[in-house]
Amino acid sequence: MAIIEISNLKKSFGKLDVLKQITFDVNKNDVIAVIGPSGSGKSTMLRSLVHLEEINAGSITIAGEAFVKDGVYAKPQEIKKITSKMGMVFQHFNLFPHLTVKENLELPPKLVKNEPVAAIQQRSTELLRKIGLSGHANAYPANLSGGQKQRVAIARALMMNPEILLFDEPTSALDPELTGEVLEVIKALAQEQMTMIVVTHEMGFAREVANRVIFMDNGEIIETGHPSELFTNPQNERTKAFLSRSL
Ligand code: ADP
Ligand code: MG
Repeated sequence: MAIIEISNLKKSFGKLDVLKQITFDVNKNDVIAVIGPSGSGKSTMLRSLVHLEEINAGSITIAGEAFVKDGVYAKPQEIKKITSKMGMVFQHFNLFPHLTVKENLELPPKLVKNEPVAAIQQRSTELLRKIGLSGHANAYPANLSGGQKQRVAIARALMMNPEILLFDEPTSALDPELTGEVLEVIKALAQEQMTMIVVTHEMGFAREVANRVIFMDNGEIIETGHPSELFTNPQNERTKAFLSRSL
């Protein structure tokens, strides 16, 4: 069953057509790796899914409910309700610098959810344990490594109990020796059957964890397939050229 249906998505910035005709479905428990050169529209596509960008045409349906249909958006409250099924993790963490780790985790649900504080605190304690940062609950982001910050950002996204997690190059801002600890957290989520779309340059990770790879170039999906097919036997010349530069 498709939990996300993206159909004929088009987006331009002025005269620049950034997304040309993007169509794909995400099934429950899918881990989809999105790869492609810089500027191919990967971030814009992901941002459109959580309504950080508005598309010009097309439809996006989450768990059976469209928040934009043929380019026409639903009411703001409806959009919010539907997009809140997704959590997003950014390249640059986007933690609140003036809040502790624990406060970073607890603020979003406190702001939007009608939930007892005790339940929120219990979840943040559990998630900090899960990402191996129980001892850092009262630290500020500035005192964490990049890898730790990104693990906190993942935990913060999980605090909202999303059905789907989106990652936009979660390890691109990290020193190479810190990427592993972040990829391990994402891998563990995959093992728990979390549905995820991960924009990444980590081909080894995509190969190991994704059940589908989407190659984008110049605002289009050029090729999609199981990693064992797409990485070893790419069909399209542009995929071949990109992979020969990236592997
Ligand atoms: P990717 O994530 O694959 O590197 P992006 O989605 O960030 O690609 O960008 C796709 C294209 O859209 C690029 O040419 C980029 O410069 C352009 N773009 C992205 N955001 C904006 C914006 N807010 N205004 C104008 N152009 C943008
Ligand atoms: Mg990007």
